[in-house]
Amino acid sequence: METLALIKCFPADSLLIAASGTESLSFNPIKLVVLCGWVYLCFYFVQQVQYSLLVPPKYKTIAKLSALFVGPILFFVLLIVDIQRQISSEGHKNVIEIIKQRLRNAFASSRSSSNSREEPTIRLLDSSGTELKQIYGHGKSKREDRHILDLTEHIIWDALQEQASDILIDPRDNSTYTVRFRVDGVLRTVENLDADKCKAVINSIKAVSNMDISERRRPQDGAFIAQTADGKASFRVASAGVVNGEKLSVRVLSQKAGMYTLDNIGLTDKYRSIIKEEITKPSGMILMCGPTGSGKTTSLYAMLNEIDLYTRNVITVEDPIECVLPNASQIEVNPKAGITFAKSLRSILRQDPDVISVGEIRDEETAGIALRASQTGHLVFATVHSYSNESAMVRLLDLGVTPVLMSSGLDLVISQRLLRRLCTDCKKPAQLTQKQIDDFRRKKIDYKHLFRAGGCQECHGTGYRGRTAIFDMLVVDNELKASIVSSDSWITELRKAGDEQGKSHLRKQGLKMVLSGVTSLEELKRVLG
Ligand SMILES: [Zn+2]
Repeated sequence: METLALIKCFPADSLLIAASGTESLSFNPIKLVVLCGWVYLCFYFVQQVQYSLLVPPKYKTIAKLSALFVGPILFFVLLIVDIQRQISSEGHKNVIEIIKQRLRNAFASSRSSSNSREEPTIRLLDSSGTELKQIYGHGKSKREDRHILDLTEHIIWDALQEQASDILIDPRDNSTYTVRFRVDGVLRTVENLDADKCKAVINSIKAVSNMDISERRRPQDGAFIAQTADGKASFRVASAGVVNGEKLSVRVLSQKAGMYTLDNIGLTDKYRSIIKEEITKPSGMILMCGPTGSGKTTSLYAMLNEIDLYTRNVITVEDPIECVLPNASQIEVNPKAGITFAKSLRSILRQDPDVISVGEIRDEETAGIALRASQTGHLVFATVHSYSNESAMVRLLDLGVTPVLMSSGLDLVISQRLLRRLCTDCKKPAQLTQKQIDDFRRKKIDYKHLFRAGGCQECHGTGYRGRTAIFDMLVVDNELKASIVSSDSWITELRKAGDEQGKSHLRKQGLKMVLSGVTSLEELKRVLG
């Protein structure tokens, strides 16, 4: 804090000195600009030191003082190193583009004052509520411990601030480890850390997750909790030995999933009213489909939130439980302990449920029990990993479900994808090729409001912030039920249509988002191919 105070005094002093020095000199605007630039760069670099995880806390004072005097020189060195790193990780960008982006970020950061990045106030706890500090670091020097714990807390804190869904820590080579966050479904390198330091961070996370620190090869898993001022967040941890060391993946379980309702997940009015009608029925099955990370679980929670949990007995089977639903019974599967989806389903059917939610249908037994339950007076929600409504039905048939069972149990199939929203601070007009323009003109589509990703500090240079969902829905009405049962050709057709037919509908929905400037053509292509 003393250093900060000292630094804050500096500009006033330096300007005074500069002013007194220039008294005898004639006014030279170039010198003034250079002086201002120098002072600005000093500040910028001191700020970088303050928040850099690469500078250990005990060296921060020295680093800040050095920054003050050799600031601009070090700034340029850091800039070159940083640009070099970005070029090697994102080969497609050129130097000029990166320098422009850096300069924009530098000006933005000076505008948004130094409190833009808060110091973490976070406590990491194991499943029994014991704090990381008490678990980790016996037999090591206190200072070294503190630094590793700070680093671990910083990584977890940053992941929560950036709303990352996963944290991946893995060795890049013998001496470096990479920390990456998955934000809005896309992986981004956050920093490269020295191997020894990062191994200690991995050990601290394994310790708080009740995993065996000495086991570095065999895959292990565990869990921990982070307590912040905003509440609790849960994390799932998996580790495994890889070439050059050990890989750690941490899944951030989104507590926010529980806050979604049918009104705020991006449904069109027509789709919303179809779902609302379906969930008021006493029985039937609603099947959500999409690949991993397509937002199926969030939509499932949104539907469950719509159900009156006081008057209807709601039981969920999940892997893992992403967030707590008040007044619902939630069961977490644990195949190692013999608690599978099928086993849990069989046991909950004895508890007289009205509504059952099955995290994911992965095997014949689960599919069979869930569909039979939907025929016997239960409203069943389930998800299946597939790319379209058509392929979800094919998947059920492939799992051994008979057409008769599927047609009588299934009521609604919904497929979903998530598109990243363009960052409103930096989106730029799209650069269309002549072919694309001709295409749009031929189809009489207004392409004037098309945008592409830019890159600014607000979106960490990605050009995107937040996501929106697109849906495709298939109502299994009596006519469709009849053709499922009666005609083999329908199933052959279904297999032939496969993913493409379903995707074309999703693509149409996605194109609407592109044309209204919410997302970009590139993003639509990334998600739907
Ligand atoms: Zn931006």
